[in-house]
Amino acid sequence: MSQGAAGNPTVAMIEAAFVHHGLHWLYVNMEVAPADLGDAVRGARAMGYRGFNCSMPHKISVIEHLDGLGESAAIMGAVNCVVRRENKFIGENTDGKGFLRSLASVTDPQGKSVVVFGAGGAARAIAVELGLAGANRILIVNRSESRGLNLVSVLREKVKIQSEWLPWREGFAVPDDADIVVNATSIGLYDAQASLGINLSTLRSSMIVADVIGNPPRTHLIREAEARGCTVLDGLGMLVNQGVIGVWFWTGMEPDASVMRSALIKSLEPTY
Ligand code: NDP
Repeated sequence: MSQGAAGNPTVAMIEAAFVHHGLHWLYVNMEVAPADLGDAVRGARAMGYRGFNCSMPHKISVIEHLDGLGESAAIMGAVNCVVRRENKFIGENTDGKGFLRSLASVTDPQGKSVVVFGAGGAARAIAVELGLAGANRILIVNRSESRGLNLVSVLREKVKIQSEWLPWREGFAVPDDADIVVNATSIGLYDAQASLGINLSTLRSSMIVADVIGNPPRTHLIREAEARGCTVLDGLGMLVNQGVIGVWFWTGMEPDASVMRSALIKSLEPTY
């Protein structure tokens, strides 16, 4: 359920999985005004929905209409995927899980030192999942101190891992011991030239550099990190994998990620 229902690449990607696997399922995008959210969830229950995704501004307010939460969604306090289990609507958060799955293609986060730029919804989802997956330390670099410190306290108190907030300064130097660097801000969305303004020469070839931005996927950060020999992960991997996990949660079947990625790229092409 989204508030704005204009052209949605997620629909193309998930419908492609249903078609490819011969599932007679439908994934539809609907616009729901905040005041109607409770009625919409009751409607989904009444109509036997197996689940739904929800985007901003519903990710937090949907919780009061659900029967329970998965572990990471409870820690984050945000839901983007609702799954019917034994007739109960359970809220999950697949954003961070999608990131983890994308990351698994190149490394295991266990014991790793991570730098996350951003402290909004995407950063929160990624940092909590990395912490639950055993990352050793997560530095949060965020412009606003209050959001940065809030995420750090969630990581320290609820995930029980080492975490610190660092202010975002022009020319920020990525610490030498970072294994994984993630841009989880909106910088780069629809703008391939947008730069984080960090000191790019501090990116080392041993680092994995990931970006949440899927449109365009080859962001300034991804291109610069690749040029320095880093292993890179674009935002499409995270987006595809959160879709893969959603389909698996709803249907119990592991869909073909390559089919979903192709459908996603096809639906995004005209915009980059
Ligand atoms: P939020 O609005 O919750 O957070 C935005 C974050 O970006 C904040 O930390 C904000 O800092 C920071 N930020 C924005 N502009 C600047 C700037 N000019 N300089 C420094 N920091 C800045 O957004 P979300 O976390 O929900 O989404 C962030 C991005 O992640 C979006 O572009 C979205 O498209 C993408 N995304 C990708 C997904 C995928 O599957 N690939 C899934 C979910 C999101 P501050 O706190 O100081 O305002």
